[in-house]
Amino acid sequence: MITLALSKGRIYDETLPLLRAAGIEVLEDPEKSRKLILSTNQPGVRVVLVRATDVPTYVEYGGADLGVTGKDTLIEHGGQGLYQPLDLQIAQCRMSVAVRADFDYARAVRQGSRLKVATKYTAIAREFFASKGVHVDLIKLYGSMELAPLTGLADAIVDLVSTGSTLKANQLIEVERIMDISSRLVVNQAALKLKQRAIQPLLDAFSKAIINPP
Ligand code: ATP
Ligand code: MG
Repeated sequence: MITLALSKGRIYDETLPLLRAAGIEVLEDPEKSRKLILSTNQPGVRVVLVRATDVPTYVEYGGADLGVTGKDTLIEHGGQGLYQPLDLQIAQCRMSVAVRADFDYARAVRQGSRLKVATKYTAIAREFFASKGVHVDLIKLYGSMELAPLTGLADAIVDLVSTGSTLKANQLIEVERIMDISSRLVVNQAALKLKQRAIQPLLDAFSKAIINPP
C-alpha cells in the first residue's frame, strides 16, 4: 500500500490532474465527505488529507510514503529526512514583503531602523532580513497576516502573494519579492527504498505530466 499525503484546497485540486496522468482516480470528494482517508481506483494507493503544514511531518515519519507540499512549508519544516525528487510546478505564488501603502519601507531600511515583521514564515523571514542586514523583531502569526500592519501590530508582513488582490483589498503594497514558490513532491526515504517498485512508476508519471518543467 502506498499512502500519499495531500492538503485540502489548492494543493489537492492541482494534484488531481497529476494523479490522473498516473492512472489514479480518487474515489471520494473531500469537499463532500468528512473522511480523511480516501481510496482510489488503484487498490494499492490511498490518499490521506492532512493540514498543509503537517504534510512534511507525515512523510518524514512514515505516516505517508509521499506527499505534496509548498516550498514555503518545506523550508519552514526543514526538509530533513525527505527526498524531494520533483518540483510539480503547481500552487505557484511568491513569498513577499508587504507594508501599508503609507509606510516608507525603503527609508526604514536605508536608515537601519528595527522593523517589526509579522509572519507565519519565521525561518524564511529571519534568513531574508539577516541576508539584507536588516534588524527585525519577528512576530509569529498563524493567519490573516494582512491585519498586522493595519492594526499597528507590525510594520511589515512576510506572506504568500499570487494575484496581489488580498494585499490590495487591505491597502498593502508588495515591496520585496523574497522567492518564487511552488509545490514539491516529497518522499519518505525508507519508503523510496522499500517500495521502489510501486513508487518509481508514480514518480515517472508525475514527472511526465508536469506542465512547464523548470
Ligand atoms: P490552513 O488553511 O490549513 O491553515 P494553509 O493556509 O497553509 O493551511 P493553504 O492556504 O491551502 O493552506 O496553502 C497551502 C499551500 O498552498 C501553501 O503552503 C503554499 O505553498 C500554497 N499557496 C498558498 N497560498 C497560495 C496562493 N495564493 N497561490 C498559490 N499557492 C498558494
Ligand atoms: Mg489557508
